[in-house]
Amino acid sequence: AGALDRALGLVREVIDFPEPGVLFRDLTPVLADRDAFRAVVDALAATVPPDVDAVVALEARGFLFGAALAAVHGYGVVPIRKPGKLPAVADRVTYDLEYGTATFELPADAVRPGQRVVVVDDVLATGGTLAAAAGLLTQAGAEVVGAAVVLEIAALGGRARAGLPVRALRVV
Ligand code: 5GP
Repeated sequence: AGALDRALGLVREVIDFPEPGVLFRDLTPVLADRDAFRAVVDALAATVPPDVDAVVALEARGFLFGAALAAVHGYGVVPIRKPGKLPAVADRVTYDLEYGTATFELPADAVRPGQRVVVVDDVLATGGTLAAAAGLLTQAGAEVVGAAVVLEIAALGGRARAGLPVRALRVV
């Protein structure tokens, strides 16, 4: 726990980013530190239940943690991407953000019906992002076993909106 505490202590709080009134948790110092990155990746991996077939990583910061976890601990990784990036798309979902909407796309031929998957992202805020990803995966026939995030911002109530079991390394 010492290594993980030290790692999470590197998270930088940025006031008024990306817009006034928002306190943004910046995880880039965690990523840049060898021991911190490894501690976080291993702690995320420890939340993954047995018999999971693949890790689903959310663009963009979820890619870093999700792909590292998958490579080190022996899972395939499926990227859920913002629109226009994937050459072959299985399905897409448009969901509400605080201001406006966003779209996620699931790659073709990446998830098979009945596969057990875990979603990985850096931060759980309002939960809309995890809910959208889980919806795409469920529609594709996957069994979404849960989600793993580095930080959960509890005051935004995202856990309830996400609608799936979420494991967070730290709740702030
Ligand atoms: P939600 O849909 O839960 O409101 O927002 C979660 C998404 O927004 C995640 O993909 C996450 O990367 C991003 N996000 C929201 N707030 C923060 C934050 O304070 N720090 C970081 N790094 N990402 C955030």
